[in-house]
Amino acid sequence: MHLVLIGPPGSGKGTISSLIKDHWHIAHISTGDLLRAELKKASPLADELREIMGAGQLVSDEIVTKLLSERIVQEDCRNGFLLDGYPRNLAQADLLAGLLEENDLKLDRALYVTVPTETIVERLGDRRVCKDCGATYSISKLPPAVEGVCDKCQGEVIQRVDDQPDTIRDRMEVYASATEPVLKYYRDQNLLVEYDNSGDLSEAIQKLEAIL
Ligand code: AMP
Repeated sequence: MHLVLIGPPGSGKGTISSLIKDHWHIAHISTGDLLRAELKKASPLADELREIMGAGQLVSDEIVTKLLSERIVQEDCRNGFLLDGYPRNLAQADLLAGLLEENDLKLDRALYVTVPTETIVERLGDRRVCKDCGATYSISKLPPAVEGVCDKCQGEVIQRVDDQPDTIRDRMEVYASATEPVLKYYRDQNLLVEYDNSGDLSEAIQKLEAIL
């Protein structure tokens, strides 16, 4: 199964991705994670990415697509994959169509994750992540057992620079202008299905099975 996941920042794409990955045994590819892995390297590219991502802007299509093209051919993608955070604009949607064709693959669904805007702002302000393994916490609902220390790997738990209030607003604007047209792109191809992620997670798999 090959899926793309589309939704505003903070709509819970990461959580839904983990559920889908475990249930359908497909690889979860987050372009944000691929880029954050690049940031850890000491390179001119890392410096450039830090500046762009710190400002909540989109990284160039060329850089992200190159990272993605290297990722989708890896062994763990043989059973399928779920793209989380790509495509973010129409140009990337076209690039993805080309990448899939080159690899003889077909997109099965574009899953649109929705939640009310108030929930988004609240969730992102609350979110903390482990610098080392990427585990996600919520300060009010699911904090690490020891403040600032990851339960899974003992790494440092921090707030992402792009989860600060000003940057959250910038990311929402970028999403509205660049990513929303992607919804129409997939709707026109009859591939778009909608998932309301404001409800209870215990029902998520059942709901997802019905629409995927
Ligand atoms: P995310 O973890 O998906 O929220 O992504 C974090 C940041 O990485 C975004 O705000 C962008 O700066 C960058 N990014 C992630 N995916 C893409 C993409 N497909 N195209 C451009 N920039 C991206």
